[in-house]
Amino acid sequence: MKGVKIISITGPPGSGKGTQAKMISKKFKIKHISAGDILRKETKKKTSVGKRLEGYMDKGELAPNKIVNEIVLKTLKGKKSFILDGFPRDVPQAKEVLGKIKIDLVINLNVGKNVVVKRLLKRAKIEGRDDDTPKVIRHRFKVYNDETKPLLNYYIKMGYTIINIDGNGSPRKIFKDLCKILKEM
Ligand code: AMP
Repeated sequence: MKGVKIISITGPPGSGKGTQAKMISKKFKIKHISAGDILRKETKKKTSVGKRLEGYMDKGELAPNKIVNEIVLKTLKGKKSFILDGFPRDVPQAKEVLGKIKIDLVINLNVGKNVVVKRLLKRAKIEGRDDDTPKVIRHRFKVYNDETKPLLNYYIKMGYTIINIDGNGSPRKIFKDLCKILKEM
């Protein structure tokens, strides 16, 4: 993975972005920066910003770019190599962020809606995340289609390198497919 320092991983909710990002972070020794985790941490602090964020996250809406960018970019200060998980999340956010950090590679996980819903309902039982209820899951999927998916065309238009991976299999199989490509880069 010579020359690849900054990666962004994208895909629908439940596509396994977080799982794959963690595995990549460990194997290639780069930091895992999950926008969702950073924002969830902020909500736990019960600050006014945290409370505002919670309102969006519980409904499955994207949080405002101004708040998200400030918090996430602050976390990135001084870091040279990392994998961004769920960031940037829509075209307006990307337009602002891509002027500040140079993403070398985008990983896109393709997963069918049925697989994703099944995985998220299972995760709901294990992790108990407030946004893993059937109603919010459906909405998050819609938000993904309407707001996040168009990012892919934006990346293509801007000439970014994108790896498209079939994310329907087991985490191990997906990681194996990914590593085959990453090792050659
Ligand atoms: P995730 O952990 O990636 O599934 O994100 C959980 C929730 O955090 C999303 O449904 C959004 O409400 C919020 N979120 C995560 N990343 C972003 C982002 N880059 N921009 C705006 N909102 C975000």
